[in-house]
Amino acid sequence: MTDSPTKTMIVTGAASAAGLGFATALLLAREGHKVYLTDIDAAGAAARADELRTEGLDATGLAQDVTDEAAWKALVEHVTEKTGRIDGLVNNAGIAVLSWTADLDPASWDRQIDVNLKSAYLGCRAVLPIMERQGSGAIVNLSSVAGLVGIPGASAYAASKGGVRLYTKAVAMEVAAKGIRVNAVCPGVIWTDMQKVAIEDNPDQYDAINASIPMKRMGDPEDIGNMIAFLLSERAKYVTGGEFVVDGGLTAQ
Ligand code: NAD
Repeated sequence: MTDSPTKTMIVTGAASAAGLGFATALLLAREGHKVYLTDIDAAGAAARADELRTEGLDATGLAQDVTDEAAWKALVEHVTEKTGRIDGLVNNAGIAVLSWTADLDPASWDRQIDVNLKSAYLGCRAVLPIMERQGSGAIVNLSSVAGLVGIPGASAYAASKGGVRLYTKAVAMEVAAKGIRVNAVCPGVIWTDMQKVAIEDNPDQYDAINASIPMKRMGDPEDIGNMIAFLLSERAKYVTGGEFVVDGGLTAQ
């Protein structure tokens, strides 16, 4: 079902061909929306947008560091100048600093929190004035099952994703009466570059992870993209402040 009229959507961290951001951007563009793909990897964002345009879709790739407040301001100014509105934001960009606390240096902790958590705050802060003026809008923040349960060796990542989950609920309450919805998605183990890097030193983990998931497979990026696209759509018009676990049953055990 296509939402109408065409909406303007921003997806951060959308440069990786195998990532959740690009899978989401593809689904949103195929639903007929105008999609801005941003990433610190400017060339990747431009390349992914080119791919969408060769399908006849409305996509633009832009450089953006999600930890940089000025970059958010520039992005919002650019998008509103071009389209006059921002209907959806997906705060997807993220990194995984995987280290046991004893081995984790403070600078890496700060970087983890900045890229995964502060970015969600900066993104919401940047687009909310536009959405308030419109009286509508929807935001999806990427949390994780690592924000729900404790995973050893992922303490900084868990702190960032647990923070995203509760930040989402608080900001959702701040804007619920203004026609703006804010939700979090908690993916399980999804086969993207982030996951490939995490297990490249331990290839036998691949089978062990698949075996540990009740549905016996890691998720595909579009499994997450479908949930995000739903939450941004009018079909989710009464849904806000929620956390939506998409993990093949992993955390239901
Ligand atoms: P990915 O590593 O494939 O892609 C992340 C993208 O974010 C990359 O293109 C990268 O360049 C970009 N990025 C990193 N730092 C940035 C910055 N400062 N500014 C702008 N862009 C930046 O990751 P993914 O697996 O597609 O994950 C997407 C999101 O989903 C992340 O927030 C991640 O934590 C979350 N998540 C992923 C999984 C999984 O299993 N893959 C599970 C749970 C949650």
